Amino acid sequence: RKLGIALVGLGGYSTGELAPALLETKLCRLAGIVTGTPSKAEQWKKQYNIPDKNIYNYETFDRIADNPDIDIVYVVLPNALHADFVVRAAKAGKHVICEKPMATSAADCRRMIEACKKAGKKLGIGYRLHTEPHNLEMMRLGQKEVYDPVKRIIADNGFTMGNNRPWRIQKKLSGGGPLMDMGIYCVQGALYTKGQIPVSVTAQYAKKQRPEQFNEVEEAISWQFRFQDGSVADCRTSYVENMSQLRAEAAKGWFELKPAFGYGGLQGKTSQGPMNVPNINQQARQMDDFADCVLHNKPTRVPGEMGLRDVQLLEAIYRAADTATRISTKDVVAVLDKV
Ligand code: NAD
Repeated sequence: RKLGIALVGLGGYSTGELAPALLETKLCRLAGIVTGTPSKAEQWKKQYNIPDKNIYNYETFDRIADNPDIDIVYVVLPNALHADFVVRAAKAGKHVICEKPMATSAADCRRMIEACKKAGKKLGIGYRLHTEPHNLEMMRLGQKEVYDPVKRIIADNGFTMGNNRPWRIQKKLSGGGPLMDMGIYCVQGALYTKGQIPVSVTAQYAKKQRPEQFNEVEEAISWQFRFQDGSVADCRTSYVENMSQLRAEAAKGWFELKPAFGYGGLQGKTSQGPMNVPNINQQARQMDDFADCVLHNKPTRVPGEMGLRDVQLLEAIYRAADTATRISTKDVVAVLDKV
């Protein structure tokens, strides 16, 4: 039998990507929904054939404990709501996938890891690029030092936001601006290309072009990771600029993705020519990978500890920008064998 997934929060990502991907997955399927909007419940029920008994709102959610159709709860809410819903899902005895960033503080991440551990359930972060062929090739080329050790990484990711006030720019719900949302891909890209956790970071906020709109969070930010061997990663993220790039340079060559982080149409090149790897349905591959771990009791490649590590790095980047000093990241939790 395919494992049953319940999506919590039926916004843009659930509607546009996850639900359609769950029609292509082989090991899991869309079995339930959790939504605060009754009209969405009606529509999803029809569109995806979801029985009434598998439809919850945020108040009735905990009753999911008694529902054997649901094996995995997938939390796709605004960032600040991740922690409570992951803890509630674990208490209900379900495995959990949580969207990125894992939470808006390292303290919340620890609480989530603890709850899942206590319940004996798996916790994975929605890091879809860890099963994406182009990004896997960046990991291989970088970590195996195919062109010698990587000396410099360039990573940028951003989009131009419309003139509205979504939760993404309300600090209470988002925890921060583009760094939390898009910059986290640069953090991830730098780490999995170098294959190491950086030892320190410096960072700078950009001067705001739209200060009225971005009055609670940064509009754009740059940061520089330094690794143990002196190599660096120059990273940048923005809500007023479209960009998506991951590039690595080493003594014997270079390799890059452009675009690097989107849902499809990724393109890879090395100093020796094109990468020639396929674009796939990233979300289908990601959810099947997690389902496979649940079915065969294997550790996930994107555990809660990795989500915690990245939130610790995001906090260090903000601290570096706030204080205009170099911040040590040596106390950031390492994830065994996984970068
Ligand atoms: P969205 O704004 O489209 O949807 C958010 C949903 O949360 C909406 O359905 C909204 O009704 C619901 N919600 C519940 N309580 C809310 C509250 N108090 N305030 C505001 N909304 C509330 O956002 P999204 O783009 O679907 O993002 C959801 C999560 O998924 C975020 O954590 C985001 O970072 C993540 N995400 C990940 C990817 C990826 O590629 N992995 C892509 C997009 C979004």
